[in-house]
Parts: sequence; structure tokens; C-alpha cells
Amino acid sequence: MTALADILRRQIAAQGPITVADYMAQCLLHPRHGYYMTRDPLGQAGDFTTAPEISQMFGELLGLLLAQVWMDQGAPAPFTLAELGPGRGTLMADILRATARVPGFHDGARLHLVEASPVLRAAQAERVPGATWHDSADDLPEGQPLFIIANEFFDALPIRQFLRHPKGWAERVVGLEGDTLTFGLTPPAPLAALDDRLDGTADGTMVETCAPALPVIDALSSRIMSLGGFALIVDYGDWGSAGDTVQAIRQQQKDPVLAHPGEADLTAHVDFHALAKASPLAATPLTPQGVLLARLGIAQRAEALARNLTGAARDSHMAAYRRLTDAGEMGQLFKVLGLYPPGAPQPPGFG
Ligand code: SAH
Repeated sequence: MTALADILRRQIAAQGPITVADYMAQCLLHPRHGYYMTRDPLGQAGDFTTAPEISQMFGELLGLLLAQVWMDQGAPAPFTLAELGPGRGTLMADILRATARVPGFHDGARLHLVEASPVLRAAQAERVPGATWHDSADDLPEGQPLFIIANEFFDALPIRQFLRHPKGWAERVVGLEGDTLTFGLTPPAPLAALDDRLDGTADGTMVETCAPALPVIDALSSRIMSLGGFALIVDYGDWGSAGDTVQAIRQQQKDPVLAHPGEADLTAHVDFHALAKASPLAATPLTPQGVLLARLGIAQRAEALARNLTGAARDSHMAAYRRLTDAGEMGQLFKVLGLYPPGAPQPPGFG
């Protein structure tokens, strides 16, 4: 039993079942026992790994994409170069290395990182010196264009789950059976916020909503709308929500969602349609990660890097290339959405 499981059990015993969003929020961000607050979970030795940790090519190509969009918008300076949930800082470090020779890009960039975890802030500070940290996207600077990237940030935001029922919706909650955390359902009732989902959702189907994503989209949209910029959102998910997608990962393995609160990573698929709908910005077509990276030239970059490698190093480099791009690996499950000012040039690579 984890320390957080004990806290949750007492809370539920005293006050009744909690929403899946409350459960996720406490598991991930509880100040003392939250998963991200207490550890660096990333990398080959950690609980899970991410695209920037797999290969430097991911950040290099997306960095050059950001710089291209910045140039297409007239190379405004100064501008905010920001990241949401930067993990170990690897992605931003790769972006900065790849863009070092883009004239004016580094001179104009003011680095801002949005990060909740003190442990990860410390890791980021080593790789991205000179950045300014914020707790929330709301705190990003106003008054200058915003070029911002988020990889596997939105999937960490707490979601609520609602099961379609003839009488409306039953919310999935976390309750107690004896001493054990278990899933339950509230009695079904109409819910105005989900009225637009009634027709398209069959009885017995789960719909997920992510309220915390909306203020983040608002914060970046208002800045990009008024002074220009670009938001590049990479995550696993799709256009629309797709049933029960909450999952726990612990030591690189799937784990039952309620088994180890605070000691497993919890994520849910990102509903990109909900993000695009919440923003007044123009949206690129939602593009699979493998397709976008191919259009940005990852095959050529992979070959160029391979030329300096031999033996096991070369094999692992080529394996990383396939892992990022193959449809059976991350290439299809992960999607990329770009948001940009209506009327600005279309970002390249999205078709
Ligand atoms: N982008 C990184 C890390 C992904 S893990 C990579 O690709 O490797 C999710 C990241 O989001 C972590 O840095 C985590 O601490 C951060 N995070 C999760 N929820 C957050 C929140 N509500 N506010 C700010 N940061 C958050």
C-alpha cells in the first residue's frame, strides 16, 4: 500500500467517492506523494520514455519547424519560446542546438518553461540555462509573439469519464470496497456540458473530458491571436474521445490504474478536436507523428547521423528512428496539431 493510497482511502471513507480527475490530480501532483513531484520518471531506466529521450532527431526537426514558422511570420523579435511540461529539458535543448544557426532566432528568443515538478525543474535547469519557470501557462509573458511546444503534456492532465446511459450520463468515480480502491458509477443524470455528445454516443460508451486543458488553450491562443506565433502539440490521442483511455505505466509496464497511486504514471488519450474547438486559432490537419517527421526529412537526418556510427551505436540509432516513425510504434499513435493565427502562412509539413 502506498502512502497516497492511505490518504485517498481515508478521504473517500470520510467524504465519499472522488472523480477520476481528482484521482489523477492527486496521483500526479500531490505535493508530497504525487508521481511527478517526487521523481524523474523518464528515460530508459525510468517508468516510461518519450520521443525526445529516444532520439535527438525529434527535437531537431520540430525545432527547425518552429523556426521556419517564425521566419514565415516575419521573424518577429523579441518573442517567447516556450514549452509545456519539458520533462528533463531534452526537447528544448535539442530545439536550441538545431536552431543555433537560424539568423536572429536565438537573439530574439526569451525562454519560458511551464513545469509543476521541482525535481524536473532542476533537471531542466541543467540542460536549458537561462530559462524562466512558471507554474501555469497563464503566467507566460504577454505582449510578444509566442512559439510554444508541448510533447506528452496534455495526456498528463486529469480527465473525467462519463458513461452514456438512456437517462443521460453516469460519471465514473473512485470509491472503496472494504480497504480497496474500486471504480464505481454515479446514478445517471442529464449533463448540459455533454448535450452535444448525446446523439453521437451509443449507450454504454465512455466519453472523456479534460477541463484543465481549456485554460491552457485559452492562455496560448490569446497570446498567439494578438501578436502571432505557433503552438505545436504532440501527444497520443485522436480527433474526438475514444472510450476509456486512462492507463497507468510503472517500470515500463502497464499497471492497473488503481493499484499504485502516486507510484505509476497516469495518462489519458488527448482529444485534439476538443483542443482545436476551444481555440480561435487556425488548426493544421491532425497529422500522425511518423508522417510529419517524414515530411520534415527525418530519413535524411537519420542517414546523415548514421554515417558517423558503427556497430551497436548504429543499430540503436536506426532502432530509435523506427520507433519514432513506424506506424506500429509511435508513428501512428502519436499525433501532431499546430495552432496558428488565422491568415498567417500555413505551417509546413502538415499537408
Ligand atoms: N515533454 C517531456 C515530458 C513529458 S512528461 C518529454 O517529452 O520528455 C509530462 C511533463 O509534464 C512532466 O514534465 C511533468 O512534470 C509535467 N506536468 C504534468 N502535469 C503538469 C501540470 N499540471 N502543470 C505543469 N506541468 C505538468
